[in-house]
Amino acid sequence: MTETTAPVPNPVFQGLRRGVRRRCPNCASGPLFLGYVKVLSPCPTCGHDNAQYRADDAGPYFTILLVGHLCIGPLLIFPFIWKSPIWLVLGTTLPLILVLTLLLLPVVKGAVIGAQWGMKAARQSRASSPPPAAGRD
Ligand SMILES: [Zn+2]
Repeated sequence: MTETTAPVPNPVFQGLRRGVRRRCPNCASGPLFLGYVKVLSPCPTCGHDNAQYRADDAGPYFTILLVGHLCIGPLLIFPFIWKSPIWLVLGTTLPLILVLTLLLLPVVKGAVIGAQWGMKAARQSRASSPPPAAGRD
């Protein structure tokens, strides 16, 4: 007799994946944000209160960490960048930093909220929400 069971996904990774896609970490189908980075709560699909997760400064912190390593690291490592004219270095890196930061911020904030959902690290003062639904990924 063989019993096949589907592997149970780690809720933290499941929440991270859903948050990176800017989807509700509870149901994976509703949008997580209203506009750029304003959390949409409750979720229009499942009614989960996504505002109970405190992303606060974690999203900008991890975004700055990523962009800093991606953009500033090469500036410190490659000598041909040191020898280039300053107008060329600033003219290329500053727009790159701006674009990367604006693109990564909602993704990272979604990942932070998704990770908090997976760890059940919700704000204590909020009313409880419906239990996690077995949504699609
Ligand atoms: Zn939802």
